[in-house]
Amino acid sequence: MRKAGVLLTTALLAGCGGSEQSRDRVLGRVDAALLTSGGTGADWPMTGYNYSEQRFSPLTQVNAGNVGKLGLAWFADMPDARGQEATPVVVDGRLYVTGPWSKVFAYDAASGQKLWEFDPGVDKAKGVQACCDVVNRGVAAWKGRVYVGTIDGRLIALDAGTGKQDWSVQTTDNSKPYTITGAPRVVKDMVIIGNGGAEFGVRGYVTAYDAATGTKKWRFYTVPNPSGAKDGEASDAAMAKVAPTWSKNGEWKTSGGGGTVWDSIVYDAELDQLYLGVGNGSPWNHGLRSEGQGDNLFLSSIVALKPDTGQYVWHYQETPGETWDFTATQPINLATLNIGGSPRKVLMQAPKNGFFYVVDRMNGKLINAGQFIPGVNWASGYDMKTGRPIENPAARFYKTGKPFLALPSAIAAHNWQPMAFNPNVGLAFIPAQIVGSAYLNPSSPLDAAKPLGFNVGQDLGNAMYPRDAATVKAAIAGATGRLVAWDPVANKARWTVDYPTPWNGGTMTTAGNLVFQGTALGEFRAYAADTGRQLFAYPVGTGVMAGAATYQVGGVQYVAVLAGRGGALPLSIGYAIGKARDVPNVPRLLVFKLGGTAKLPPSPQPDTAPVTLPTATGTPQQVAQGQALYGRYCQVCHGASAGGGGVLPNLQRSANLGNPDGWHAVLIDGALKDNGMVSFAKVLTPEQAQLIRLYVLDEAHWAQKNLAEAPTAGGKVPARTGVR
Ligand code: CA
Repeated sequence: MRKAGVLLTTALLAGCGGSEQSRDRVLGRVDAALLTSGGTGADWPMTGYNYSEQRFSPLTQVNAGNVGKLGLAWFADMPDARGQEATPVVVDGRLYVTGPWSKVFAYDAASGQKLWEFDPGVDKAKGVQACCDVVNRGVAAWKGRVYVGTIDGRLIALDAGTGKQDWSVQTTDNSKPYTITGAPRVVKDMVIIGNGGAEFGVRGYVTAYDAATGTKKWRFYTVPNPSGAKDGEASDAAMAKVAPTWSKNGEWKTSGGGGTVWDSIVYDAELDQLYLGVGNGSPWNHGLRSEGQGDNLFLSSIVALKPDTGQYVWHYQETPGETWDFTATQPINLATLNIGGSPRKVLMQAPKNGFFYVVDRMNGKLINAGQFIPGVNWASGYDMKTGRPIENPAARFYKTGKPFLALPSAIAAHNWQPMAFNPNVGLAFIPAQIVGSAYLNPSSPLDAAKPLGFNVGQDLGNAMYPRDAATVKAAIAGATGRLVAWDPVANKARWTVDYPTPWNGGTMTTAGNLVFQGTALGEFRAYAADTGRQLFAYPVGTGVMAGAATYQVGGVQYVAVLAGRGGALPLSIGYAIGKARDVPNVPRLLVFKLGGTAKLPPSPQPDTAPVTLPTATGTPQQVAQGQALYGRYCQVCHGASAGGGGVLPNLQRSANLGNPDGWHAVLIDGALKDNGMVSFAKVLTPEQAQLIRLYVLDEAHWAQKNLAEAPTAGGKVPARTGVR
């Protein structure tokens, strides 16, 4: 390994020279060979470790025998308490990580000294178009540059040595609600990037750009052009074939259909194929989206492409006729498994819908599909001849006309949190969770598509908690997390660890027979990979949801993880987040080594003292109207039933509950737009904004009286300003 002094010199050279040759001295080794093998384990050269994205490190200095001696080597406070989802990338003793609002940070990986940071300066008002917080899941590194996708749809190349912007391209139409939260991937000197936005109404695609110049190479749309026209893109031939799986009419014609590729894009260096994890439909409701007709390819599918041209090779659709927000965007691990006595090149995925898939990479054929959480009720299993699910007819709520209480739900049996695979023990480690929710048909004009808020074809206004303490307490108790060690050959769990709350961290595994995972309630843990025995737990003073990385500098193995709460579930779930709501939200990069002695300062504790609420003044009719509006426009960020999640302000504690002018300033005048809380004047009249206030105030009184022992934190909201 080079020493820090040498690295600083090369950084200066790269900054001064700017030519390809000098730039390559920093990160020069990040090329196809390194990303294919991953190297010795000294580097963690891409978010998924290497192209197979198993998040498996060959390092063994930290192992099942000594992991209990792991201590903090160093830590770095991060600026934004809005969801830390990135996995660090480490090359030549430098650590690169991203944070909320698409910011990038570089550190000396051994000392923790900050080398540079880059703020792309995104328009904060774009935050309202990020379904699941203004998060980012990491950079890609390649030949002297690091790449980041931004929440406003740009792909930016930075000089790895200096953090200075080299090139930037707008990958989306910024007049539409596209966002980027996923890490770019670099394949054959091309940067591949997708996007999100299917909750609001967009058409999904991925684009490949020249890694040196940012010139577009190809684009692949995942769903047909609603106009019926050709796009003149790599996907045209495939789109012509799948067009008959969509209805003649239906809302996809105006929404764009969805199918965004917002996280998993995996390169198969053995077969020279690129796998896209494709997202949900837009709107979710298949009855509205496609008149209840057709499989709607390539929604909820894994699609294989030729990386040179973006041309279609094969696909496997996990959820035909997707209608529950069941994305197939979740992390994909590549491996060779011994199945039925012969080696098979497979990919593995544990997507939202609760089934663990093993798919043949040669042809896209399903090998195994098994339920990895208990109680999956939308399908009982898979027909292995056709590769299609055996559905529960009640799950298609738009056909039955009846609500369907689903497990899993849009919140997911497994979301974006990284899944790791350890080939030594033959197990995949799924950061799973057990959270149900109801799907209801639209019931009023409020549920139609709007210029703000989720457009998912659901009755969101009635999808909140009933005013029944026993039901709410049961929902809190029932929403749990589970680490599942899945045997993909036997198609069953070998061991599990239960957690009292959902939304725990991603996993990382090593040849030291270890699995690392952070928890929502504030620990960073290690388990024996083969047995699940807990070997290590470090209190980190905040919730953890990101996945860890490990690397070696100067003969010392380090384990790095981002800590801090946020993301879809703490924004949207309300009361059922349970005890996690009272866990402080402290955004921090934590780096461990054997015998580390650094100490964390105590985390500032959220204010959980009961607030004195103003008198509730809404009539039952006003409260009901306000509840429907809150459910439609507010709950996906401020929590069902205004229950809060400890990330965005808990509105039940808002100082504006008795202050109509202050409430108006935020909802109508957009006083907090720089936090992502834009004016809702496009969809709410001033009178409707006040109805929402009356509802939240009423709900706060009910919760104070009926859920007294339930968590209450989330921070008091001062009037008008001061929101973090
Ligand atoms: Ca979605």
